[in-house]
Amino acid sequence: MARTALVTGGTRGIGAAISIALKNAGFAVAAAYYGDDDAAQLFKADTGIYVFKLNVDDFAACQSSFAQVEKDLGPIDVLVNNAGITRDAMLHKMDLDSWNATITTNLNSVFHTTRTLIEGMRARGFGRIINISSINGQKGQMGQSNYCAAKAGMIGFTKALAQESAAKGITVNAIAPGYIATDMVKAMPEDVLNNRILPHIPVGRLGEPEEIARCVVFLASDEAGFITGSTLSANGGQYMA
Ligand code: NDP
Repeated sequence: MARTALVTGGTRGIGAAISIALKNAGFAVAAAYYGDDDAAQLFKADTGIYVFKLNVDDFAACQSSFAQVEKDLGPIDVLVNNAGITRDAMLHKMDLDSWNATITTNLNSVFHTTRTLIEGMRARGFGRIINISSINGQKGQMGQSNYCAAKAGMIGFTKALAQESAAKGITVNAIAPGYIATDMVKAMPEDVLNNRILPHIPVGRLGEPEEIARCVVFLASDEAGFITGSTLSANGGQYMA
């Protein structure tokens, strides 16, 4: 029987590419979305992928909606923590809401989702947890102290949980994408993209969401059982950790 994979923020951007790639690799996929109902319904119609609404900031909602997914599709063996936001500002201008929202949606969410599923994975003796971090969690980025703290926190979480889970057949890995051509990045002014970002990417282009999705499919596979606690950089050579 196909394993079930759950992708947060799974109907848009990188998450949509991950959901589709996992489906094509033979997984039963549940894609969670938050606010963009139109994008989610279009995605469902286009792909036939199971879609459900979830605010990853809400622990109780993770518990109830994941229980429903497991009733509908079977035990969740693969968790992709992809949902994320940015609220950029220099720290001396950052308000508390921007700090808290960014930490909550990028990092606390990883506790909410993973805590909900980890006991079942341990009981079944199998699991794949894949955390979508960021190049900026590795190298830091001016104007993103909140985002960098959250994304670096995901990497620490990954290493600790990998150690806790290895003996139970569960791997825990992070992927640190560089600049990927999603709506977020495409919305940047062209001169910023051309003059301040692309010159720093040795391969000379943005990454495609599908290139991150291929990393996820690899780490999600049964055959990737010897890889755990790692951070896979997919950034066109922009930063070599
Ligand atoms: P998008 O902004 O395109 O998509 C973000 C996704 O997160 C959406 O699906 C959104 O749901 C979901 N989301 C936001 N807030 C919540 C919430 N509270 N609860 C549940 N879901 C939520 O981002 P990208 O595709 O560009 O990025 C995906 C991940 O990759 C993020 O974690 C990001 O930090 C990381 N990343 C992205 C890079 C890039 O260059 N694009 C580079 C490095 C890392 P909805 O569709 O309903 O709005």
